[in-house]
Amino acid sequence: MKVIKEICDEEKILQILEKTKNPDRKTIELIFNKAKEKKGLSLEEVGYLTNLKDKELISELFNIAGKIKDEIYGERLVFFAPLYISDFCVNDCEYCNFHIRNPLKRRKLSLEEIKEETIRIIEMGHKRVLLECGEDPINNPIDYIVSAIETIYSVKTEKGNIRRVNVNISATTKEDYKKLKEVKIGTYQLFQETYHYETYKKLHKGPKSDYERQITAHIRAFEGGIDDLGIGVLFGLYDWRFEVLSLVSHSQFMDKHLGIGPHTISVPRFREAPTVTYQPAYPVSDEDFLKIIAILRVAVPYTGMILSTRERPEIRKIAFKLGISQTSAGSRTSPGGYKKFLKEEVQFEVYDLRNLEEVISDILEDKLIPSFCTACYRIGRTGENFMNLAKPGEIHKFCRPNGILTFVEYLENFAKNNGKKEIYEKGYEVVEYYLNKIDNENVRKETIKRIERIKKGERDLYF
Ligand code: SF4
Ligand code: SF4
Repeated sequence: MKVIKEICDEEKILQILEKTKNPDRKTIELIFNKAKEKKGLSLEEVGYLTNLKDKELISELFNIAGKIKDEIYGERLVFFAPLYISDFCVNDCEYCNFHIRNPLKRRKLSLEEIKEETIRIIEMGHKRVLLECGEDPINNPIDYIVSAIETIYSVKTEKGNIRRVNVNISATTKEDYKKLKEVKIGTYQLFQETYHYETYKKLHKGPKSDYERQITAHIRAFEGGIDDLGIGVLFGLYDWRFEVLSLVSHSQFMDKHLGIGPHTISVPRFREAPTVTYQPAYPVSDEDFLKIIAILRVAVPYTGMILSTRERPEIRKIAFKLGISQTSAGSRTSPGGYKKFLKEEVQFEVYDLRNLEEVISDILEDKLIPSFCTACYRIGRTGENFMNLAKPGEIHKFCRPNGILTFVEYLENFAKNNGKKEIYEKGYEVVEYYLNKIDNENVRKETIKRIERIKKGERDLYF
């Protein structure tokens, strides 16, 4: 079908990978110069970067990626927690523990249980969740998902509430997407898993095996009114070079045809799971994984990048500097997992088992601002409005003060009276450092005023 080819022209991508397989220094230097302009790269230029082997040039690529991340998104790292509501699934995806062959007793949370899980997540300090759910029209119909979202938003505790529900559910119809929009979801995320058609068909059985349904889902979601859309692949299923070019091609398609590029690109890497016997045909080394993040950062500079707890703390630490702007922390990957963690029930194995507070302590050492900001979507800075700020690198003017304000709220709620003196003091040190870096004097003064209001008990202040 024509549209599939427009999103990802397999033949063309393979030809580019062949043509670019021996990049010379001069070509790479020209690409680096273009990358520094933060306007993105062509598929061919991305091809050369994926074939880069020279260690010195790779290190230069990492420097450029880190600088672009700083210039566009600043020092903030936005946190979220996944919230699994049901592991019922009619699909058989080789790499996922919820595949239909797994004899696991399936679990679907009641609305009351969803409320309880939401409270647990709020009490950790989170303000954003990513709702996750298997595909099952009988057990997980769209009305159940809609009620789950309404329930999550309805929970208010002394420590706050969830202010943004992002959703990761299987590809569906425009009508279903409209329903998600009506209950005010943040980003709709759907990963292609692999853009390589033959591999996709081999690894999926059930309704998800429909490659076209999967790859065109963002178009239907957009038509249904959702304009913050996330894409991604599961690295390890096929050659990562092909997947990176496909992600960039998909981004360019969205930009051209929907008028908005992806809001986020996620970079999950295959991880083991209890009943998964599949072994990745194209395992991705740590070195290549970091290269993937750096290449995507320079190729699609305006797009947020998401890293999950599939990665070890050491890798996450480097990835945060290279280009990641959002990450999960303290995650549980099974329905009811925040109440009771059972290893056999997880969707995949988590490699960063630290709680949110530990991750916060760690990133403060690297002078990053832990952010719980949800401002943009709540004041309509979505889709084109968001892109108009992100593309010219203006969004960090909002991210910095909002990151500071939401982190101050975290410090006052979760660190002040809980014997967490160390994190409280270190936190305010970093807050002070970035307050002084707010260039606009009015914004700086207003941020200082709002910090005082938060200290006196006001909450949820943002620009
Ligand atoms: Fe089901 Fe999603 Fe797992 Fe596939 S990846 S088995 S669709 S939950
Ligand atoms: Fe995200 Fe907007 Fe907040 Fe920046 S200001 S962290 S882009 S919601």
